[in-house]
Amino acid sequence: MRYNEFMKIGIVSLGCSKNLIDSQTAMKFLTRQGHAFTANVREADVIIVNTCAFINDAKQESINTILEMADYKESRCQKLIVMGCLPQRYRKDLENALPEVDRFISIDEYDHLEDILKEEIEPEAEKDCDIVLATKPWTGYLRIADGCNNKCAFCAIPNIRGQYKSVPFEKLLQEAAKLNEIGVKEINLIAQDTSRYGFDLYSRNRLLDLLKELNAMDFHWIRILYLYPDLITEDFLKEMRKLEKVLPYFDMPVQHGSDRLLKAMRRITDSSKIRTLTSSIRRVYDDPTLRTTIIVGFPSETRDDFKQLVEMVSEVKWDHLGAFKYSLEENTEAYDIRPRVAGKTARNRLDKIMSLQQEISVERKQRYVGQIMEVLVEGRDAIKKMYIGRNRTQAPDDIDGHTVFTSERDIEPGIFVQVRITEIRGYDFYGVEI
Ligand code: SF4
Repeated sequence: MRYNEFMKIGIVSLGCSKNLIDSQTAMKFLTRQGHAFTANVREADVIIVNTCAFINDAKQESINTILEMADYKESRCQKLIVMGCLPQRYRKDLENALPEVDRFISIDEYDHLEDILKEEIEPEAEKDCDIVLATKPWTGYLRIADGCNNKCAFCAIPNIRGQYKSVPFEKLLQEAAKLNEIGVKEINLIAQDTSRYGFDLYSRNRLLDLLKELNAMDFHWIRILYLYPDLITEDFLKEMRKLEKVLPYFDMPVQHGSDRLLKAMRRITDSSKIRTLTSSIRRVYDDPTLRTTIIVGFPSETRDDFKQLVEMVSEVKWDHLGAFKYSLEENTEAYDIRPRVAGKTARNRLDKIMSLQQEISVERKQRYVGQIMEVLVEGRDAIKKMYIGRNRTQAPDDIDGHTVFTSERDIEPGIFVQVRITEIRGYDFYGVEI
């Protein structure tokens, strides 16, 4: 994703929405220091690449992007800065391998990010600036915590991001109020694990308290992403249901369906808890959206483990499911687990799960055909003369598809409209504004 509007600094933000928030923080500091931005990196004086190193594909994408940006440096750009998970993990190697990069900024330097940027990029006239959005102006992310105390065997995040650290409650309310003030209508709560919000600071879970406060503000949709399944109880769900702006959207990565493998992955939940929880959500809410992610090809995954995963996916029928091939990561427990699954086997399993999910996804969405859904308008395809937006089952991170619709009037992006759904095509909804 590439952002920004005017000139001078080009930011390329890779990876997840949590990384996007770091890019947004860098943009805020740079705006405060009087800089402007350009969406066209070819005309940037300074290029910043915010990298992801979550899995091998992400690392490769980060390196390719740095090399691509280094080419622009030869023409106009005077400085190339690389921040994020990649330098956090591999700084020494990168410094040797990529002399084109002027400055690497690791995550553990983020406490001083504003000063580092000031040192690297000479400030212009300083300006007042509280918040800068790297998203569309009607959508905002609120990072409620960073880091993770879980020890999932496949995951390098705790090494990269450190221990779980909640953002103080009052600070979140202030940030949410600012987002509200600048016109954000859809707020998305993120963290490595949103379900644990507050435990470290207040010795108790304060996610519900936070949702109540946000529900009282002038947002239209409130969405929670990255819930870890073990802490979501039926009582929590019943309380959450009372908050009318909090969408019935449950993004809970379950990772696998075999208990033996979940244990090897050091997950806290087992398959029966996952099934119970998804049933509870469907009991408490009339029409919730369930999203998950799973990993195939984790070391020692047998044919039988995979069969159990297929059974669980067929049975639970998540609305959205993202599957990833296991990626070998140094300094994680899974690195030493044997036997490793052959790449070809993992790819076949991935294909099998994704074709199964494609069928499930289309089948699940049929229930909306003929229904009227509220849609947040995000743009217009002038050639097809169609508008594009998202309904409540579709988060803003480009994973859940879009809602495409026609209308007889001119509509400004950023408003909510009512759309009658007429058709489902792949992951997208099609319809007509009423
Ligand atoms: S919950 Fe597990 S997968 Fe998620 S960030 Fe923490 S250790 Fe990684």
